[in-house]
Amino acid sequence: MADQSCVFCKIINKALPVTLIEENDDCIVIEDIAPKAPVHYLIIPKKHIINVHDLDASTASIMSSMALMAKKIAQKLPEPKAFGLIINNGEQAGQTVLHMHQHFLSGAKLTDL
Ligand code: AMP
Ligand code: ZN
Repeated sequence: MADQSCVFCKIINKALPVTLIEENDDCIVIEDIAPKAPVHYLIIPKKHIINVHDLDASTASIMSSMALMAKKIAQKLPEPKAFGLIINNGEQAGQTVLHMHQHFLSGAKLTDL
């Protein structure tokens, strides 16, 4: 169920402008508004799940959908198609938007970010 106050639910419902990279039934991929790397996308499940703590047996398959989406968008990267994936879980880990999302980062080493 969409959360009316959630910025990512608003994006999924096309109520906020974004640069859309990809979309399927399970998730959307957008450009991060404040990129930390030359390529910085967010893979966002369409279902309002707060973070990994909020997953259960009925929703955990979203993780494989997100991984396959990452694989798909990685095909557009230049060789060697290197990229990092990060999910921040909880405010102490840096999560600022409480709707689960995976950062897709490329063009810089994660250790340098
Ligand atoms: P996190 O800190 O892991 O919760 O990541 C949230 C990310 O969402 C940050 O990198 C923000 O720059 C990004 N972000 C927040 N609002 C928007 C928006 N309207 N469009 C695109 N990215 C956003
Ligand atoms: Zn949401």
